[in-house]
Amino acid sequence: MDLMNKIVSLCKRRGFIFQGSEIYGGYAGFWDYGPLGVELKNNIKKQWWKWAVYDREDVVGIDSAIIMNPRVWEVSGHLKALTDPLVECKICHKRFRADNEDIIENHKKEHGGKSDWTEKKNFSLMTEVFLGTTEPKEKSYLRGEITQGVFVNFNNVVSSTRVKIPFGIAQIGKAFRNEITPGNFSFRSREFEQMELEYFVRPDEKESSKVFEYWKKERMNWYISLGMKKENLRFSDHKPEDRAHYAKYATDIQYNAPFGWSEFEGIHHRGDWDLGRHKLTYKDPDTDGEFTPWVIETSGGVDRSMLFILIDSYYEDNINGKERIVLKLKPQLAPYKVAVFPLLANKKELIEKARKIYQLLSTKLNCVWDDRGNIGKRYFSQDEIGTPWCVTVDFDSLEDNTVTVRDRDTTKQERVSVDKLSDYFQNKLS
Ligand code: ATP
Repeated sequence: MDLMNKIVSLCKRRGFIFQGSEIYGGYAGFWDYGPLGVELKNNIKKQWWKWAVYDREDVVGIDSAIIMNPRVWEVSGHLKALTDPLVECKICHKRFRADNEDIIENHKKEHGGKSDWTEKKNFSLMTEVFLGTTEPKEKSYLRGEITQGVFVNFNNVVSSTRVKIPFGIAQIGKAFRNEITPGNFSFRSREFEQMELEYFVRPDEKESSKVFEYWKKERMNWYISLGMKKENLRFSDHKPEDRAHYAKYATDIQYNAPFGWSEFEGIHHRGDWDLGRHKLTYKDPDTDGEFTPWVIETSGGVDRSMLFILIDSYYEDNINGKERIVLKLKPQLAPYKVAVFPLLANKKELIEKARKIYQLLSTKLNCVWDDRGNIGKRYFSQDEIGTPWCVTVDFDSLEDNTVTVRDRDTTKQERVSVDKLSDYFQNKLS
């Protein structure tokens, strides 16, 4: 089985990601996050929010509406420009992205090497929704990027907080694109989540390019700090013809995925495009001068980050002649931090003591209880979902109030006093 299939199967088997509407045959481009998936995804978002908002004095957060006045999309240029080139096969009428050479080439095989395509046309990725009680209902859109919610609130944030340029507004939320060809598991979906920072600076070429370089480095370092391997990450600058309509210049952070180097974060110099279009300006409280700030944006995909973190942390190894799958997730990201086991499932004293420890740790950390099968199987089952530590309560624990703590990556075990257990894990996580 190739790596991608292994990841897809692990995600379903252990409850990370399920096909959306699966019992009705699925729905292309939609995915549901299971009990472990929602934890991993939330942990990525928590780390990002801490990095963007809590650890900085110059950034505040917002959470804007998904559906906005449709004028926003007209003015921002997305109705015209959030498009992909589309071609239709004249033989079978299937539609594809014209810029995906592999898909186009592969499709020929379905017609014995023959191809006959329509002219390329621009296909809008904006998802329409219809609202109101009178017919015809009013047409609006599910947001195609979360960014516009930040710009339309620019004045509100400036007047309700003490931010001063340079400053940033951070947001995490869902975006929707009617992608022509969703695929590569959750990589290209029609519903996805973005984590974005819009950083407002003075309209100055030199200053803004310095800020652009600064955020580029910060973002790359953030992914490395989450444990992603440096050699699997790279920048890829956009060529002028590939840039989004709003971008002065742009670069992507790409991951070396099983299906090729693929973007999962875009860093864009948006200049004054958005605030200029919305006719929003900033009044400098120090000089009283008024200007349209420029914007440097970092736009990461939560779903793509999660997928690539899963791929990057996936290992198969052999422990004492036994094959195991292990997700070497950074402990802060792991769905469960600690698994607690009684050595035997049929010894009341062991279960009682283990339950107490489980309850104690659960007040501080996300823990899981397991008393099925033998200890070796329980370890392997936790390794596969990335639980960094397993605690086993055995007969010695009843005598000396210590437990065995087993480390996921090294598989080494050590005895730790129950009184110190909570601090022991907190220290490792800090
Ligand atoms: P692509 O070229 O892959 O379509 P994009 O350049 O249109 O992506 P941006 O508009 O820069 O993407 O969006 C920023 C981030 O949002 C992307 O780096 C990605 O992580 C995420 N994203 C965009 N489209 C999708 C999608 N269809 N499914 C999942 N994530 C997406």
